[in-house]
Amino acid sequence: MTSLVATGHPLQRAGAWATAVIAEREDPSRVSVADLDTVASILAADVLAAAAAPKDTSRYDWWKVLFALYPNSKATHSKRPSDPDVLRPEIERLFAPDLSDAGMMRPCTFCTVGTAVVWAKSNLPLFDTSKALNTLPPGVPGWPVCRGCRIAMWALPYGAWVTAGSATVLSCEKDAAEREFARRNVWRARRVMQAGFTGMPAGTRPELVVLTALRDATDGLCATTLWSFKNDNQDPWLRVTRTRRAVPAFLAAVDGNAPLRRGWQLLSLALNRYDSQGRIAASGSGEAARLLFEAEDGRSRPLLGQLHRVLADADGAWSVTDREALVRLAFTYAEEVFGMETDLEPVATLIAEWIARGTSPRGRLAEYRKAALSDYQLGSLLVQAYTRLQLDGNKTPLAGPELWKPLIRRQPRAWEQRMLLFARVSVMLQQRGVVVGGKETDPEQERKIQELVDRPAFAEVRDDEYDGYHDYEMEQA
Ligand SMILES: [Zn+2]
Repeated sequence: MTSLVATGHPLQRAGAWATAVIAEREDPSRVSVADLDTVASILAADVLAAAAAPKDTSRYDWWKVLFALYPNSKATHSKRPSDPDVLRPEIERLFAPDLSDAGMMRPCTFCTVGTAVVWAKSNLPLFDTSKALNTLPPGVPGWPVCRGCRIAMWALPYGAWVTAGSATVLSCEKDAAEREFARRNVWRARRVMQAGFTGMPAGTRPELVVLTALRDATDGLCATTLWSFKNDNQDPWLRVTRTRRAVPAFLAAVDGNAPLRRGWQLLSLALNRYDSQGRIAASGSGEAARLLFEAEDGRSRPLLGQLHRVLADADGAWSVTDREALVRLAFTYAEEVFGMETDLEPVATLIAEWIARGTSPRGRLAEYRKAALSDYQLGSLLVQAYTRLQLDGNKTPLAGPELWKPLIRRQPRAWEQRMLLFARVSVMLQQRGVVVGGKETDPEQERKIQELVDRPAFAEVRDDEYDGYHDYEMEQA
């Protein structure tokens, strides 16, 4: 009989994977009763150490994590006993085996295994809020939760990407990616307990960990969902973001191709955010990773939109090589992730010609930049360019309306096509030395970029780099 099941509930599932990783088993179904005993005693020891930790220690950071997930539990209560030995029985009881003759058996809320233990919502993250994933039926004294699931729900912070106030878990079609995400987070949890959050690299994000896990553990198609939440008494929230199924194919394409890796690293560098003293406040590689996730509420910044911003920025100057790399990244994303196959060459040529032949190419580029993403404005600009070039006696055949119509009609992916068109036009102009100013290559900057391009594109900060980051944090403090 299996003692642990990874169910479809995202929090239980993340906890089940964490339990398997801590028990050093291949997957949750291999976790034995003896493994559950081992994991239960590890959880209890960590909870007790956190509950008794003085406020300015790194151990206290793990208490903050527990508080964010279980704000009303015995372990995090403000009136908890300061002596761990007094608190111990309460905590050990949370993970104790089910007694078969303990009274009425009910099916476990998560996995339906019979259990006599009923848990209050205070032990279950996200169960007592308006954003709850479940609500309790009237007249039921609490949630029936079997031992495996009780342990899983408290192993959750080990399998989740945690901060001092929130947690993020992953659901993925591929077990290998879920396991890899859990494995990295269990390692990180131990690191937080030892060194606290100040010992962690600044500005990394769960999205980057997911991309690393997908890259390392997946081939083929695989959709992922990230659930980020805070179980706060005052202001709980749940944010759900997804990647499209083809994202692993895109990751593989980028990883295996130097110009695409260059494009990805340039985008990441452009997304670095600095504080007032010029230090990195948010790492661009984490921000770039976020662009592959789409929010359920539609409030995310898609990758193509961000690439467009970077390429269309009138003040930004890219060398031809760099612009080509960024544009290639945009086209690869559109092909791999959206399955778009577009030949924008003739229309891009039309616009580039029109800009190049103006008395003020700069003025025409500004006009195009303004119209580039609007169906209506781009439509009138194309009519104007087409007519103008015809009147000027253009010798080569021009792209006619039948070729631009898909770009200015209200149809799926027309917006993406308009961004790709702009990208292509900007490369053409720069290659021809028209208007789009290039940047002198700074050898030092080029050396740094080349170093980044030589590495895998979606690598989380390596273990051996943590100490360097630690020093950086120390300098800040
Ligand atoms: Zn269960």
